[in-house]
Amino acid sequence: MHPYIAQTLETVEKRNHSEPVFLQAVREVITTLEPILAEHPEIEDLNLLERMCEPERQVIFRVVWRGDDGKVRSTRGFRIEFSSVLGPYKGGLRFQPVVNMGVMKFLGFEQVFKNSLTGLNIGGGKGGAEFEPYGKSDDEVMRFCQAFMSELYRHIGEQRDVPAGDMGVGAREIGYLFGQYKRLTNRYEMGVLTGKSVGWGGSLARMEATGYGVVYFTQEMLKTRGESVEGKRVIVSGAGNVATYAMKKLTELGAKVVACSDITGTLYHEDGIDVSVIKHLAEVERKHIRAYCDHHRDATFRLGAKVWNVPCDLAFPCATQNELDGKDAKELIDNGVQLICEGANMPCTPDAMEAFRAAGILFGPAKAANAGGVAVSALEMQQNAGLEQWTFKQVDHELQKIMQRIFSQCTHYAEKYATPTDYAAGANIAGFLRVAQAMISHGLI
Ligand code: GLU
Repeated sequence: MHPYIAQTLETVEKRNHSEPVFLQAVREVITTLEPILAEHPEIEDLNLLERMCEPERQVIFRVVWRGDDGKVRSTRGFRIEFSSVLGPYKGGLRFQPVVNMGVMKFLGFEQVFKNSLTGLNIGGGKGGAEFEPYGKSDDEVMRFCQAFMSELYRHIGEQRDVPAGDMGVGAREIGYLFGQYKRLTNRYEMGVLTGKSVGWGGSLARMEATGYGVVYFTQEMLKTRGESVEGKRVIVSGAGNVATYAMKKLTELGAKVVACSDITGTLYHEDGIDVSVIKHLAEVERKHIRAYCDHHRDATFRLGAKVWNVPCDLAFPCATQNELDGKDAKELIDNGVQLICEGANMPCTPDAMEAFRAAGILFGPAKAANAGGVAVSALEMQQNAGLEQWTFKQVDHELQKIMQRIFSQCTHYAEKYATPTDYAAGANIAGFLRVAQAMISHGLI
């Protein structure tokens, strides 16, 4: 390992020793940057690696709210403003009980490079709270969002920091957050949040964007082997926003999605998953996917099971970090998988990634493949700034162009510095170089 990389890792590990997922994300990126160090001595001269591993600002705050049972709760909230070198901090809010500083920092770090890859003017950030939205009443969710925004509002702004949704935060939560922001600031600052509902400033196709983008990226990978998604047998993990719209697009393009999952287990439907039912369960009934079997009697549900042992051609991890490990990778490879495309952030463990690389399996890394969501968020900001509303077709067309551009960046840098299909290395290098160049222009800040 190059001494500068080793030294940076040592410093970052010492500083953040209690944050394993953050360290995993850092290691994954900076160990792929070795081939560019010789050509770019300024990276070491200006200590860019270490600077990029330290968030510009980290906010931890208390969120006090009352549950329907009358009890007062104190929840921890976060906003990591990781990098504003390419634009206002941009990234989602995650409401989930397992959220902590390390998770926030890993997501913020990934977001910097992902946002850079989009080619748009957005910096990187992430936030959230250790809040469990599942099982909460609508009123509780509203009160929590209002309490959360009562602190967050002082840190954000359409030219400062622009949050959006992530796990546990969808259009409903964005609505409550926006309402409170407007009340506190007395400003209708449309571009302060993205992922808004279409009726009041949201962008068409924002909801679909991450999942569709994952599929557009997949199409580009398959094209290199003269193939398409049509007729392919597919499995998807997750049943949230990313998984749902990935399944929808894949089905539209003639693939057959036979399994998906959520935290309770795996759903298997040989005839092909009926995405409208999954959508209805998530968005309307707010129920776990097990209830799918009430709608389709020939589907089966396996409690607590992972999805990865279902034989398939294409696999899409769209649930959460580290959900697919080395053992799962081996099972997928033994069952003949051709392609993995990451919809979630860092869903594959390092040994799983290594196994796919060694087996020559096409691999779409998250920060490239799932960048469609944040890219359309930036298009939402653009529409808000211009007081415009683009058509679904227009936004979808832009999204396709962005995903194709990201893919060609990944290919270009993979070919130049790694091996031609190492899109993970290509994505890291492409994302890194754009941030690095902007940092150099801004001087020592
Ligand atoms: N949470 C999404 C992501 O991981 C979207 C962020 C955004 O739209 O700002 O990229």
